[in-house]
Amino acid sequence: MDIHEYQAKEILSNFGVDVPSGALAYSPEQAAYRARELGGDKWIVKAQVHAGGRGKAGGVKLCNTENEIYQACDDLFGRKLVTHQTGPEGKGIYRVYVESAVPIDREIYLGFVLDRSSQRVMIVASSEGGMEIEDISADRPDSIVRSIVEPAVGLQEFQAREIAFQLGLEPKLVQQMVRTLQGCYAAFSDLDATMVEINPLVITGDDRVLALDAKMSFDDNALFRHPQIAELRDKSQEDPRESRAADRGLSYVGLDGNIGCIVNGAGLAMATMDTIKLAGGEPANFLDIGGGASPERVAKAFRLVLSDNNVQAILVNIFAGINRCDWVAEGVVQALKELDLDLPVVVRLAGTNVEEGQKILAKSGLPIIRATTLMEAAERVVGAWKNDLTQGTKMRAV
Ligand code: ADP
Ligand code: MG
Repeated sequence: MDIHEYQAKEILSNFGVDVPSGALAYSPEQAAYRARELGGDKWIVKAQVHAGGRGKAGGVKLCNTENEIYQACDDLFGRKLVTHQTGPEGKGIYRVYVESAVPIDREIYLGFVLDRSSQRVMIVASSEGGMEIEDISADRPDSIVRSIVEPAVGLQEFQAREIAFQLGLEPKLVQQMVRTLQGCYAAFSDLDATMVEINPLVITGDDRVLALDAKMSFDDNALFRHPQIAELRDKSQEDPRESRAADRGLSYVGLDGNIGCIVNGAGLAMATMDTIKLAGGEPANFLDIGGGASPERVAKAFRLVLSDNNVQAILVNIFAGINRCDWVAEGVVQALKELDLDLPVVVRLAGTNVEEGQKILAKSGLPIIRATTLMEAAERVVGAWKNDLTQGTKMRAV
């Protein structure tokens, strides 16, 4: 789960990371009022969306008067911000953060990520802040400092000092940098984060180390033990297809293709998507309906897959171990009858009670295309989809 910049800043500041003073606003009037409360004569108005790259996309504006703040907000509120991280549809702006503008001397990149090969938290830092880490690693790979944290002892002071020195920080700033690094690490590990990114972390003209931007993501599987974090979820920033799936306990990731996939097991779901591509099609989604899928759950999965208007054919691929093919078949029949579908559906069943499952499908009288192997299923669904396209039939009755 992702959260907003202002939320990440509040969390990090509770862990000892210094941030500029700022306040949240839900309207232009409120933003101007917040600026007056903050005082000073230069403010930054920042669109709160779950994506980076806002600065380049016009989502971060420097304002010198209350009137400018009002104008900036008037332009931002209600609009979709398209950055290189949002995809072409963009993300809606419903909140802005008003922050005191800070005189910047130096910008540093700082990230905390999970390093799969060492199975540890890795700190990635660079003296080339302000640029995206992908660009830094392409243009200035030598500037990147990497450091792995030993979980049994956490981030040690000497290790944090070493990072500060490698970034070329002046001795008088090192202690502040150590506090920042240790605060970020504590927030990361205490709250089960999967990512903390501060880009830029700045050194100000008056020698302060400040997080000017902050991004945090959390492990969904650990949210149950951090209700205060779970509360920060903002559905307006999520792909509506994925929000619906999360609310129904289904593991779904929306993609750009036309072939909807209903599969049990994450590994099989990945293999199904690969095989569809191999057969010349493009999957519309990843969907794992889980091990013990009841007919109701299968019907739910159909509804979810069909909520994506790009879906023009469906492949159901079930390998029943814990699951039962007859249950899945019942679910498919129930869903197809209920939804009155007018698009090709290919079903491949294997494993427990497969004969009963096939019988249910055959007896239903529905135009379900059956397949025995995954390759065959993928070829049939892609074939049926192409065929429908060339015939120009209406693809969807629901
Ligand atoms: P994004 O990464 O989404 O573009 P940032 O929060 O990093 O958004 O802001 C973009 C740029 O705006 C920063 O790199 C920094 O140069 C400037 N900026 C952001 N906040 C402030 C601030 N409080 N004071 C001065 N400059 C800021
Ligand atoms: Mg940034």
